[in-house]
Formats: sequence, structure tokens, C-alpha cells
Amino acid sequence: MIKLETPLRKAIRTTGAYIRKLKDLKIETVSDFLRYFPRGYTDERDVRKISDIEPGIKNTVKGTVRSIHTASSWGRRIPITTVLLSDESGNVEAVWFNQAYLARTLQVGQGIILSGKVKYDSRKGRIFFQNPAFEIIRPKQIHTGRIVPLYHETEGISSKWLREKLFSLLPASSQFAEFLPQEILRGFRLMTRGNAISSIHFPKNPSLLDSAKRRLAFEELFLLQLAALFRKNQFRAIANREKKQIPVDWELIKRFRDSLPWSLTNAQKKSIYEIIRDLEKPYPMSRLLEGDTGSGKTVVAAAAVLHAVESGFQACFLAPTEILARQHGQTFAELLKHFEIAPQLLLGATPEKEKRKISEKLRSHEIKFVIGTHALIQESIGFKNLGLAIIDEQHRFGVKQREKLKTYGSPHVLSLTATPIPRTLALILYGDQDLSVLDEMPPGRQKIITRVVPEEKRKEAYAWILKEIEKGRQAFIIFPLIEESEVLQVKAATKEFERLSKEIFPKLSVGLLHGQLASKEKEETMQQFSKGKVQILVSTAVVEVGVDVPNATIMMIEGAERFGLAQLHQFRGRVGRGAEQSYCFLFPTHLSQTDPLQKINVLKRLNALVKYDSGFKLAKVDLDLRGPGAIYGVAQSGIPDLKMAMLSDAKTIHESRSAAEMILDTDSELKKYPELRRQIENNEKVAIDY
Ligand code: ADP
Ligand code: MG
Repeated sequence: MIKLETPLRKAIRTTGAYIRKLKDLKIETVSDFLRYFPRGYTDERDVRKISDIEPGIKNTVKGTVRSIHTASSWGRRIPITTVLLSDESGNVEAVWFNQAYLARTLQVGQGIILSGKVKYDSRKGRIFFQNPAFEIIRPKQIHTGRIVPLYHETEGISSKWLREKLFSLLPASSQFAEFLPQEILRGFRLMTRGNAISSIHFPKNPSLLDSAKRRLAFEELFLLQLAALFRKNQFRAIANREKKQIPVDWELIKRFRDSLPWSLTNAQKKSIYEIIRDLEKPYPMSRLLEGDTGSGKTVVAAAAVLHAVESGFQACFLAPTEILARQHGQTFAELLKHFEIAPQLLLGATPEKEKRKISEKLRSHEIKFVIGTHALIQESIGFKNLGLAIIDEQHRFGVKQREKLKTYGSPHVLSLTATPIPRTLALILYGDQDLSVLDEMPPGRQKIITRVVPEEKRKEAYAWILKEIEKGRQAFIIFPLIEESEVLQVKAATKEFERLSKEIFPKLSVGLLHGQLASKEKEETMQQFSKGKVQILVSTAVVEVGVDVPNATIMMIEGAERFGLAQLHQFRGRVGRGAEQSYCFLFPTHLSQTDPLQKINVLKRLNALVKYDSGFKLAKVDLDLRGPGAIYGVAQSGIPDLKMAMLSDAKTIHESRSAAEMILDTDSELKKYPELRRQIENNEKVAIDY
């Protein structure tokens, strides 16, 4: 009997070459092969009578072979095979070019199904099939007359070949063990695993296909979330040993609130509340604070810092770049000045001797609050009593770096992100973090006028920018992301910088920022821009331009189509910070070379930016149009590679989430579900970067 573990060379009849090709696709056993799912389907169930054939479109008919002829065409040496087919309503010819083997495959009197485009032969005055797909009628139809699976045809393996072989292995699919508990199967009306795998290849009807897809998507999303929630529980249990409970002190928060020059938005109040409530729990907080650029995350973070420090703990704030660390240093000092909490900076550029001094003071608790870059998570750094760690732009740090923070005595961890991740997607990507959302902007924000600029208007745009700068404004020019290489990117940006500073704006002072500059140079240029000495800042996207320059009112983005909407939105958030009206110009630089359909899609995406100011709304648009990768841009990892599940499928995400919660609520150790435990421990896909 063929088993799931049977190596393919023993299970299917084929050549060593095919076995090797499959091996390249990581398909070695029957089980691997059956889990090679179709990329799509064509519905070939509409079998019509020959008399009902419509020319110009695809038709499928079923009949008997009456005659077979092969001849060479006039002047050419290509053999043409002609088959006459009849059913009770009439007959029709099918013609194949260069497929002489057909004459050997087919026999007069045989029943076959034909499927393909029907053409009109004006010379003969009748219709015929040209190069149709065909299949000899058997008890089971594989290639025609049914919903037919289509596979990725890589390594020179055709869909037809794959169908043939997979069909022969289908009986083995009943051996796939069910690992979803009965109550979940019943509760969510899910197909069993074996049936789903069989139906995903050869569904008997569309509704069975839907059920199979839903089951397999559910399974993937369920395991991801079960793993995340399981780890969250485990982490709490372990960290529990080192309690960092911070008792709630609303009086303190009130005093903080009253010390601010403006009143908090409702979203800020709610987030502060959620965080403070977390801090008093006996296990560490793991919370993600999400909010558009400018939504006021820093104040919320400051409230948490204040709360931790005032109750006798240390706090640290991790920023992705030195520029941002310095800026946060100033902001926190200002926000916390009434409470006499002065942040200490610790940067890569900090002299070694001073670093050592800071490190000592952290170990002795002389320093209560430190703001730093990666320098903060070096081996040599330790804390006396770290109660709270805040990570700004968490996706800029690797898992290891984030994990390192947890080793500083299991502090409460608050991550901040300006990437607006739709809630459902956050459940998958950050399943073990709780979520607070700043979905409301502080009042008085002006709308940034956004335009998509066609190439022919480029000169006009430059002239307009020049005029604005002569009035005293400043501009950013973001240069497109070149995926392949940082070096190429720097080269391109440098060239563009030369062109802009020499040819287009010779009278202005133009600065250049890119990833390969030493941090001191970057710092210097940024300072110059902040002070208004540099009027136009040309920058690559890899550089954090996250500084606050209220006088900058123009954001121009080259190659805008290469960025995700959320990312474009973040660039746009760099302007509109002062009193003057601000503008964002999007140049879809490579538009003319793209095909019309792509052009429409690009414009559709970019116009969403013209229309909406909410990062959340934009992220949702991108998620629907381009999938989750678009939200972060190409470089972002951590998005699980799912076979069946769609990350835009909110319904299945929520259902599988509640299923995972249900299971862990009754059995947090998965003692009653050893198979599930095995699944989440062995499944590398669920071990995602979260
Ligand atoms: P984010 O980090 O979310 O991008 P920031 O914390 O830097 O945003 O805040 C952006 C600006 O808005 C800052 O200048 C801050 O002082 C201001 N701000 C924050 N909260 C409020 C509020 N409730 N009302 C008015 N201004 C606010
Ligand atoms: Mg910020």
C-alpha cells in the first residue's frame, strides 16, 4: 500500500529526471506531493452538445472519434492531425498542429472529451476546434469536464503531468491525520484534513472546493495564532518569577496630564490607561502601540516612563537611529521636566569611557531613564532594576535584539510603531502582543495637499518648488528604493543629487543623505537641514528622515510606485508639522514603461494617497490591493509564508483566533492535545518573527 511517507520514486511511475525535478521543489514523499496545492482552477464542467457549440469562445464537448488523419500542411513540414468527433447532435472537426503522436494515442470509436477554443474556417464555411485539450473518457475525469486544478509549472513540469500523478495518489490523502480537535471541527463546521487535501486537488463541485480552501486556510491561521498565544502564556509563566508589578497611581497620571501644554486625545487617554493597567500585572506587559506619524505616541510613552520611574524602577527607550535618539532625548526631557526626570543618552558615538561610566550608573540605579540606540543592547550593558523597556519603530530591530531586552530582568515591554497595521493583520503578525491604537490625531492638523505628478509636469513642479523655497520653505526629495543593492541605490541617489544641485537648483543649498554615510556625516547634514542651512534634502528611503523640521513643507517622492502606501504615507508625515500649508508630490517615475494594466493599478494606489489622510485606511487599501508585503515594503520579513490563507481574510483570522483562545483557555499546556503541541513545536512556519 502507498503510504504518506513512501518516497515518490516508489509511489509513481516516472523517470529519475522527474524525481529529481520534484526533489528540487522539496517534494520527496507522497505526503509532500499531496501538499503541493494548485495555484488555481478552471471550471470545465460545462459540456455542451456539438450542435450548441459557439465559435470564438472556449467549448467543451463529449463524443466519439469517427476518423483520424495526419497530413503535412502545404509548403510547411508541420504535421496536421485532424479528428472528426460526433455526438447525438452532430459532428465537429478538431485540428492539432505538430502533434503527430495524437494519431497514435487516439482510436476510432473511442469516447473523448475536447475542450478549447472553437474557430470559424471561412474557406470551408464551418467551425472547428484548434489545438484543444482532450481526454479519453474514463470512469474518472482528470483534465476536462470537471473543475480542473492548475499547478505552478516550474522546473519544466506541466500541470497535466502533475494532475495525472496526483490523481493516482489521491487515495492516500485519507491517511493525513486530523490534528484539529473534534470540537473545533464541529464548532466551525470544518472539513477533515484528509478530505480537504483530496478536494483541494480534485473538487467534485465548487462548494466542496470552498470548504477545502476554508479548512486549509483555517488550519494555517489557527496554528500561527495558537503558537503565538501559547508562547505568550509560557512567557508569562516564566517571567512571573521576577515580578515587576507597578501599582497604579492615577494621581501621578493626572499631574502629568495637567503639566502638558495641550489636552490628550481620547485615543491617547485610552492607550495610557491600557498601559498603566498592564504595568500592575504580575507578568510583564507585551504591548504594541500603533499610531500614525504625528498621532502623539511619545506622550503616551512618557506617561509609562514616568509611572515606572516614580515607582522605583528604571526605564529605557530604544530608538533605531542616533538622530531619533537625540530628538527623543530632547522631547522626553521637555515632557518630563516637571518631574525632574532627565534622560541619559547612550549612543554608538558615545565615547568608550563615558559608555563605561553610564553602564556603571545603570547597574547602580543612579540613572533612572536611558535613551539609546543599539548601543543599549550591547553585552556590557546591564541594569539594576529595569521595569520598562520601550522600543521605537519595533520592526527596525531584529527578534534577537528585542529578546535581549527581555533578558534585562523581564521588564514590561512597550513597542511603538507608525506602520498602521490593520487589526486583523496585527493578530497574525504580533499575535503575542496586546494592541493599543492611536486612531485619532491631535486637533488642528492641516491636510497635506497630495498630487500625483506625470513626467511631463516635472519641470513645472521644479519651478514651483523653487518658488516656495525662495519664500523660505524647505523640501525633501526621496529617492526610490532599489531593491537589489544598497550600493546601486547610493550611486543613483548621488547622481540625482549632482543633477539637482548643479542643473536644477544651482542657487540653492542641497544636501544628500544615504545609508552609507558615516553617522557623523548624517547627523551633520540633518542638523544643517534642521537649522535651515540646507534647503533641499535629497535622501534615500533607507535613511530615517524622522526628524521634526516644521519649516519643511514639501515632500517629493521619486519612483513612488515602488513604495507601499503605508510607507509613502510615512514620508508624507515628515511635512505638515508647522503652520504653513504643506505638499506631497508623487512621481511614478517608471510609469511610461509599464503596461497599461499595471499603470491603472499604480495610479489607483497612488490616488488612494491623494484621497485619504489616514494611515490605517491606506494600509487597508494596500492590504487588499497588494497583500501584506506591501505594507512594509519589500525588505520586511516576518510575514509568514502562507499557502492557503489570505491575510486579508478577516473572517477566518477571527474565527481561528477564537478557536485558538478556546483551546488554550481550557488547557493552557496543551496536555490534552499532544498532536497540537507537536504541530506548533515542529512547524517552522509558525515560529515567525513576531
Ligand atoms: P508620533 O511619535 O506618534 O509620530 P509625536 O509623539 O512625535 O508623534 O507627536 C507629534 C506632535 O504632536 C508633537 O509635536 C507633540 O508635541 C504633538 N502632540 C502630541 N499629542 C498632542 C495632543 N494631544 N494635542 C496637541 N498636540 C499633541
Ligand atoms: Mg515618534
